[in-house]
Amino acid sequence: MPRSNTTFIDLRAKLATYMNEQELVFIERAYDRAFAAHEGVKRESGEPYIEHPLAVAMTLANFSLDSPTIAASLLHDVVEDTKVSLSSLEREFGKEVSCLVAGVTKLQRVRLKPSFSFLPSFFQKRAEEARNFERQVESLRKMLLAMTTDIRVIFIKLADRLHNMQTLDAVRPDKRARIAQETLEIYAPLANRLGMGSIKGQLEDLAFPYVYPHEYKDLHDRVGGKLTAREVYVLRFQKILTNFLQKEGVPVSSVHGRAKHLYSLWRKLQRYDGDLSKIYDLVAVRIIVPTVADCYQTLGLLHSRWNPLIGRIKDYIATPKPNGYQSLHTTIFGPDGEIVEIQIRTTEMHDLAERGIAAHWHYSESKHAKKVAERESRTKLEWLEELHKWQASLKDPNELKRILSLDFFSDQIFVFTPQGDVIKLPAKSTPIDFAYAIHSDVGNACTGAKIDGKIVPLDTKLDNGDIVEIMTAKNPQGPKRDWLTFVQTQKARSHIKVYHHLS
Ligand code: MN
Repeated sequence: MPRSNTTFIDLRAKLATYMNEQELVFIERAYDRAFAAHEGVKRESGEPYIEHPLAVAMTLANFSLDSPTIAASLLHDVVEDTKVSLSSLEREFGKEVSCLVAGVTKLQRVRLKPSFSFLPSFFQKRAEEARNFERQVESLRKMLLAMTTDIRVIFIKLADRLHNMQTLDAVRPDKRARIAQETLEIYAPLANRLGMGSIKGQLEDLAFPYVYPHEYKDLHDRVGGKLTAREVYVLRFQKILTNFLQKEGVPVSSVHGRAKHLYSLWRKLQRYDGDLSKIYDLVAVRIIVPTVADCYQTLGLLHSRWNPLIGRIKDYIATPKPNGYQSLHTTIFGPDGEIVEIQIRTTEMHDLAERGIAAHWHYSESKHAKKVAERESRTKLEWLEELHKWQASLKDPNELKRILSLDFFSDQIFVFTPQGDVIKLPAKSTPIDFAYAIHSDVGNACTGAKIDGKIVPLDTKLDNGDIVEIMTAKNPQGPKRDWLTFVQTQKARSHIKVYHHLS
């Protein structure tokens, strides 16, 4: 798909539709800083690096996000990739922006291990590998949540991933599969959980050909011609439908046909034994009307003129989907007896379906200029609510119960080994707890520890996302007795006690 690159002029024009002059000047300053920091650096595609943060900022501008988020998105890679420090960002752009950048920088560590990317397809893996894979995906999802206290960090991360997927072709082949799989297993479900349908659909369709190349090609070949014929039909039906509803006095805002995303079509086909003729929403017709009453009136009018298919009427207005999605769905026998799926919703519902929690966030934001403290606490609250809903989709009911207790975020942390394995520990754990979690021999031989490459005292409290490295002696002197004063895990405690013959 050809892509036109975003320029700062495009971005500024978009932002000017909802920001004041002072905010625009602030954004321009952030852009200049990012431009200078990335100057002379090229992406793997050969484009100037600044194209990337600009594209990320543009995606977020389309969600009408606030000026700190846009500024942070422009600066999101400078700490990781250039010599700019977080403290200088804080000096120049304030604490809010530097915290957002720090959050995004830390999330760079949440990644699937490369070993998984050499496996051609999830379904072809052996059972053991599949279990390991599931476990790792689960840990990474949880880690992502535990590490994020401000949902705007996730917005930036999703926009970042979207542009990286759009430019994935230029990336080394061995990295592509891992990034695409991560997108499918971690980021698309997250976007879905947050109700951000447009991002979810794009991420899935971009990842699909890399993760399931054969399945993608097969579907693409089968659907291509059908899709065109279908679009022509829907275009014709759209006109008939619009005229009919207007004549009946429904103030229709818009009627349009939309082709189903390929990846979600593929998933759906698997439930219908691959029978394409059973998929009625290949191109669904979407009717947007002003009010909820108009939605139900439209549904009644449709059924009075075209027969509905029994059992296909769904009222997601009265009973929204778990991620907040609302609409009326029906399937009718349209002109020439063709079966058509129709979705009816208000403008606000449509906006929510496309933007999800980002739309909520923006609306509540623009209505009143609230104090930062108030906003932060609310943002965090909404965020937690969403996460709990997301976690609710996990399979294990016991795990779910434990997570739903609000302690989830305060009583455990996730850290990495230098090889990228995720280790789960109780909060306030120290490098000694980490060492014993790896193996009792490692604990007993531990002489020192590094966090993110820097040597730290052994009683240092670990933080989410830390990369922990344990140094061991060839002829260890055994665990120190005073470690008992700060270790958190039972495992560490009992090994130290055994060594010192304490009961
Ligand atoms: Mn980036």
